[in-house]
Amino acid sequence: MDQECRRRLTVRPCHADNFEPAARETIQYIEEKRLPQMPVRLDGREQAARDRSLNDFPKIHHSQYTVSLVKILGIETSCDETAAAVVEDGKRLLSSVVASSMDLHVPYGGVVPEIAARSHIEVILPVIHQALDEAACTWDDIDAIAVTYGAGLGGSLLVGVMTARTLAIALNKPLYAINHVEGHVYANFLTETVLPGYTLRAAPPQFPMLAIIVSGGHSQLALFRDHFDYTLLGQTQDDAIGEAFDKVAKMLGLPYPGGPSVEKAAQAGKPIYTLPKAKMPGYDFSFSGIKTAVLRLAQAEIGESYDFPSTKLPERLSEAQKANIAASFQRVAIETIVDKANRACEEFQPKSVVIAGGVAASAELRRQLTEALLLPIEFPDLKLCTDNGAMIATLGGFKAMRNQPAADPYSLAVEPDLSM
Ligand code: ADP
Ligand code: MG
Repeated sequence: MDQECRRRLTVRPCHADNFEPAARETIQYIEEKRLPQMPVRLDGREQAARDRSLNDFPKIHHSQYTVSLVKILGIETSCDETAAAVVEDGKRLLSSVVASSMDLHVPYGGVVPEIAARSHIEVILPVIHQALDEAACTWDDIDAIAVTYGAGLGGSLLVGVMTARTLAIALNKPLYAINHVEGHVYANFLTETVLPGYTLRAAPPQFPMLAIIVSGGHSQLALFRDHFDYTLLGQTQDDAIGEAFDKVAKMLGLPYPGGPSVEKAAQAGKPIYTLPKAKMPGYDFSFSGIKTAVLRLAQAEIGESYDFPSTKLPERLSEAQKANIAASFQRVAIETIVDKANRACEEFQPKSVVIAGGVAASAELRRQLTEALLLPIEFPDLKLCTDNGAMIATLGGFKAMRNQPAADPYSLAVEPDLSM
């Protein structure tokens, strides 16, 4: 690799120190694999290089998108999952590799940003490599790279974005910057795969489409009129629903992540307690109140006052009490989402409803939606609900096929607070 390329890759994009190890490893990887060397012009005219990479992408014209094959490598590192996948034509899943640093965070009861970022650096290249191998692709087969640039943890996002930028520059591929939350929605557009163990829907969802986005960081309802044309109907004004699951799990002494462990505990209990539902205007949500209500309920159940510390609750609550509290919380938290989704269906009459994000794995959510909604709803495969590269590659595919602007690989910055 020539000296100027090396200088630019190691010096220019260094907004944070965390980036350097990832860049060095990426460069080493490219050299080891004897990948094509920097076909992009390096005369300092960044705009020219960017225009060139856009114009060099032959398959993004509207008239061609139904016939051309567009293979996208998707990279996702917004939180604790390092993920990469290859998706063809925004619908065909060729590979999906996810490495999670979850186990390292369990002792702390939540994701530790520094540990997550370090772990991304360690595994991102093997994960990308494996995604290419499993898809039986070489770099030549990949038409573009899509990467999550927000929202998420800054250090975590940096590793994915800097790796993707480096690869896009070195391999002269268009780069698509993906909003993580929009990405979650696009897990629903995967309809074909030969990979074992996936159950995908038969056809993509139709527009107008109501998207229920429920994850560790988001609780949102969005109405999509078409690709890249949506309105955010409402969102949480404080905690996200997944965050509430995680915090309630902690109060009950259940392991992190809270969603699955609350769900498991709830199976042994009954929703016998009444918990309040936040009354929020329009389609907005609030989940901080129910968290406090659960705390007060647990304190009352063991006959203690409001100042009894939540950390001591697990040792005082019986297994039956924990199960019943879990079941009651789960029922009400999910009802809050389903009530508003139902109202949105009545008001906007969408042709399809999709769920997205980690909480979309909840069996209670699936049960309540199936019962409450008038139109039939298809659920994404559980493996595609939590963070993955496939959803990022899928949205990247639509961006490529629909001629959406590509990102500048020399300047794409992470946006930890990116919203929809
Ligand atoms: P984000 O990307 O916003 O960090 P994810 O999409 O990774 O969030 O989803 C993680 C969240 O999903 C966690 O809060 C977790 O507790 C929740 N979750 C996972 N499985 C379930 C489940 N079965 N029921 C409820 N919540 C769940
Ligand atoms: Mg997510």
